[in-house]
Amino acid sequence: MPNKKAILVDIKRCIGCQQCEQSCQQVHGMPVEHQAQLSETALTFVDQKGEKFVRRMCLHCEDPACASACLVGALKKSPLGPVTYDSKKCMGCRYCMIACPQGVPKYQWSKLAPYVKKCDMCYDRQLAGGIPACVEACPVQASTFGDRDALLREAWERIRNDSSYVPRIYGAEEFGGTSVFYISDVAFESLGFVAPPLGSEPLPALSAAALGETPTVVVVGGSILAALYWITQRKRQVALDELRALDNKKEERS
Ligand code: SF4
Ligand code: SF4
Repeated sequence: MPNKKAILVDIKRCIGCQQCEQSCQQVHGMPVEHQAQLSETALTFVDQKGEKFVRRMCLHCEDPACASACLVGALKKSPLGPVTYDSKKCMGCRYCMIACPQGVPKYQWSKLAPYVKKCDMCYDRQLAGGIPACVEACPVQASTFGDRDALLREAWERIRNDSSYVPRIYGAEEFGGTSVFYISDVAFESLGFVAPPLGSEPLPALSAAALGETPTVVVVGGSILAALYWITQRKRQVALDELRALDNKKEERS
């Protein structure tokens, strides 16, 4: 079992240079431009709160509500830590967008074939032995990457050695724990951090309860959507196979 990885964001160190968001946009082939919120082309952004800068992104929850809401398993918590997304499985129902308390998953409304977009902690780079592009680009190590347990120890060490830090690691327990932690010299509440509705309980407990109260028509609707998606994909595959067979026949004749 690989060591679970995480990112530690130190709000006290951040100088607001936006290198992290630019680097993220570069490696994902997106337009490099600052945006004031997460979007389909801003998977992380630097939010200014008074004199403080806070990098917003997916927290990669240990027990992610987005994944538990996904009917087709397009979103998954990987053993390495990142919550990944498989566009081939996604049927576009957007339940993940409703389930995430941070409003992280975004939808490509402008595209003809839209997908959900969210940070995946540069999963491919991690598999290749690299580190997330945002962390690599940070000139002052306001974002650091490493083993989750070691980063938690490092965060407590910084708090112990500097009394200006708030004695709390946001993400250590919130939402059942996450793979992105924050430490700060300003109260998290004043920086717009979401108060977890269930404290340290993971959110899927809440979505499960909510789903229990969901009218049957919605649940049935979800199943119908899943079935329709499967049929559409199947039809597409059959059509492609037929075209390929026609091409092969043409080649044989010529
Ligand atoms: S922050 Fe939202 S999108 Fe990210 S893992 Fe948690 S529930 Fe999913
Ligand atoms: S939109 Fe895609 S990723 Fe989100 S819940 Fe639906 S199928 Fe899963």
